[in-house]
Amino acid sequence: MNHFEYIDGVLSAEGVSIPELAEKVGTPFYCYSTATLERHYKVYAGAFDGLDATVCYALKANSNQAVIKTLAKLGAGADVVSVGEMRRALQAGIAPSKIIFSGVGKADAEMREALDADIAQINVESIPELVELNRVALDMGKKARIALRINPHVDAKTHEKIATGKAENKFGIDWTRAIEVYRDAAQMDGIEITGIAMHIGSQLTDLTPFREAFTRLAGLVEELRTHGIEVKNLDLGGGLGIAYQGETPPLPAAYGQMVRETVGHLGCHITLEPGRLIVGNAGILVSRVMYIKDGEAKRFVILDAAMNDLIRPTLYNAYHEIIAVDEAGVDDKMATVDVVGPVCETGDTFGKDRKLPDNLQPGDLVAICSAGAYGAVMSSTYNTRALTPEVLVSGDKFAIIRERPSIDDLIALDKVPGWLD
Ligand SMILES: *Cc1c(COP(=O)(O)O)cnc(C)c1O
Repeated sequence: MNHFEYIDGVLSAEGVSIPELAEKVGTPFYCYSTATLERHYKVYAGAFDGLDATVCYALKANSNQAVIKTLAKLGAGADVVSVGEMRRALQAGIAPSKIIFSGVGKADAEMREALDADIAQINVESIPELVELNRVALDMGKKARIALRINPHVDAKTHEKIATGKAENKFGIDWTRAIEVYRDAAQMDGIEITGIAMHIGSQLTDLTPFREAFTRLAGLVEELRTHGIEVKNLDLGGGLGIAYQGETPPLPAAYGQMVRETVGHLGCHITLEPGRLIVGNAGILVSRVMYIKDGEAKRFVILDAAMNDLIRPTLYNAYHEIIAVDEAGVDDKMATVDVVGPVCETGDTFGKDRKLPDNLQPGDLVAICSAGAYGAVMSSTYNTRALTPEVLVSGDKFAIIRERPSIDDLIALDKVPGWLD
């Protein structure tokens, strides 16, 4: 469900027409819909109604301040994976008591800043990190509230680069060693055990791996209790998938029901960390067709967006639907084309053998759909291309929420040493 629809034959974001935005902002640009963000957040949070639960939006999916603030206003907490993201969450007005710091390698300076900010919980992923956090906390005269992130050895059945819960993945402490590490943690004066955490992967389209992992988690909580260790907060991570290409991922309500069934009896506070599900289908990448090239074997549609703007297709073989902004011609006579960007890499391909109107012309606009998550945040300036601006729409209003920087500013970041003068 999203709010990008054809209105009078042109693709619109809520009440704003995409061609009008393209005129004002230039292409390529990311466009997000407030109504979609709000709807996704509410539907997801609503799935846990009646449970003692906090939804901590995973900032890494899309960390634009305006997006964070939109969600903060609805009551979202934040799951952050760096001190940079922690500062973003705080600046957007999220209370420290609703911020969780995840990630496999936190630097000393990050631990210090997190302890100073007094955030809710730091999720620790290894014994060396636990030892280090204890040292830093003692040095500051504080106690660090922690959860141990447990790796349940469950196959999330998702793309290998976003599976995180298998024994061979770098994430978390093996569940078989969890009790032993908790007992060590309980002896550390700089550590206060508050929770237990898991995040088994991203873009899961089936509840079975979640169910397996959460059942294992519940077993651990009960076993910890027999050792006199009480965890108050169960952090279940994110990972619920979205439809990119006609997938039918479980609805949040079904996910919520499964959470109740697996861990609802434990009497714990529950933290959820959705990222993609909130923002993925709330954003599109709008691009202009530069050239149509009829090759020997194929027709190529060459866009002014490239892999540096949206790397998911080449990084994860991700599928993003690509549609014409002008509805005239859609379904009429469609051509089979490869949609590519101008960067000097064969990997700079957004989609192969796609259907776009046969009469698509240079200058026409297309939208690359489902680009709100892991899009702008993963963009780069490869090929000395300026970072893509971001626009947020709300009803018939829009605002540029990140400007396109100038190429000169980009070049000015480099410093030429004196000996080259
Ligand atoms: C990436 C991540 C998330 C969010 O994952 P989505 O698949 O975007 O929901 C949540 N928690 C942790 C620890 C993560 O690393």
